[in-house]
Amino acid sequence: MSNLPEARALDAADPLRSWRGLFALPPGVVYLDGNSLGALPLGTASRLGEVMRREWGEGLIRSWNTADWISLPRRVGAMIAPLVGAAPHEVIACDSTSVNLFKLIAAALAMRPGRKVVLSEPGNFPTDLYMIAGLEAQGLAERRLAPRAELVAALDEDVALLLLTHVHYKTGAMHDMARLTRAAHDAGALVLWDLSHSAGAVPVDLTGCEADLAVGCGYKYLNGGPGAPAFAFVAERHHEALQQPLTGWMGHAAPFAFTDDYAPASGIDRLLTGTPPILALAALEEGVKLIAGIGMERLTTKSRALSEFLRAAIAETAPGLPCISPEDPTARGSQLSFRHPEAYAICQALIARGVIGDFRDPDILRLGLAPAYTRFEDCWNAAQALGEVLESGEWERPEYRQRAAVT
Ligand SMILES: *Cc1c(COP(=O)(O)O)cnc(C)c1O
Repeated sequence: MSNLPEARALDAADPLRSWRGLFALPPGVVYLDGNSLGALPLGTASRLGEVMRREWGEGLIRSWNTADWISLPRRVGAMIAPLVGAAPHEVIACDSTSVNLFKLIAAALAMRPGRKVVLSEPGNFPTDLYMIAGLEAQGLAERRLAPRAELVAALDEDVALLLLTHVHYKTGAMHDMARLTRAAHDAGALVLWDLSHSAGAVPVDLTGCEADLAVGCGYKYLNGGPGAPAFAFVAERHHEALQQPLTGWMGHAAPFAFTDDYAPASGIDRLLTGTPPILALAALEEGVKLIAGIGMERLTTKSRALSEFLRAAIAETAPGLPCISPEDPTARGSQLSFRHPEAYAICQALIARGVIGDFRDPDILRLGLAPAYTRFEDCWNAAQALGEVLESGEWERPEYRQRAAVT
């Protein structure tokens, strides 16, 4: 039986316990949605104040040089790199995950002339599938979807790119990155990994897996703030050949030469398009700094311990509720998902009690465990609240069934 004293003992022995104090978490709230929007680091407000007052307010345009604004996309990318097993010069922070997907899918298609198929799986995150569809509508790609078990068999000589999300956003199930990357390469295809639910949450070794391309999200486990810039990875061996379609001036070899003809920058900079959003990148840097400071090894250990504790606690408080995340903690992301036909209303009833998880259509209650700031006591409280919500039937109140614009 898990209990509150046990949870508190685990928190007291947690080597990450002091990091929680570096985040602005409202008292009385159990926050289990850091996989949708990471918590606010305390350093972010003062950093943004500084960037606004001193760098923008006083430095004005000079700050592109004096505050080195111009290299911020590369600096933040280099800080993200060790979290995903990449070299510093292989990652850049820019644009949104969706836009980076577009750039890298198109670039991969251009690197595999004669092949048009982009292979993915049904139920992948919508934006990933929509971005393939958009390129298909332009006549540049052909979308092919195969269920997990049939992906390898679907890799034939028409496939230019295998595009998968490493950790599934609904179930938390994790793909075997090394095995699938090898299979794609054996078929002559490239691989693009979406690391939105992986970066800062689970160990990723892009270099060890010989991955070609990757993208990931800045506002989830990296705590960059709502709509934070995303990141993109290109393995060094592809830097010279990579042609991305959004050939803006910031990806030019010499943006301030103002020439009429486009020539891509030599390294990862060629993924840039327009002027980088400095305020947003400064906020992202503060979030990444904390996660990089802890390091993936400690984050992984804590994440697995948290999710095992929460799984055991919910198995006691809500024994009838099926967990659809993989049972093996090394085979899932930093989350647990549960299935219930009234998952939306249950999620709302939990939020009313101060336990913030989220709902994923049609019937999934998702509890994210951001290891940097989530406590075992939070897991215990969430399990108690969930048990009480189910037992009391309080989720049946009509107001909990009213769907908001963002679910
Ligand atoms: C969150 C998420 C995104 C987000 O894309 P945006 O362009 O930032 O909206 C993309 N892919 C996956 C798998 C995600 O989980």
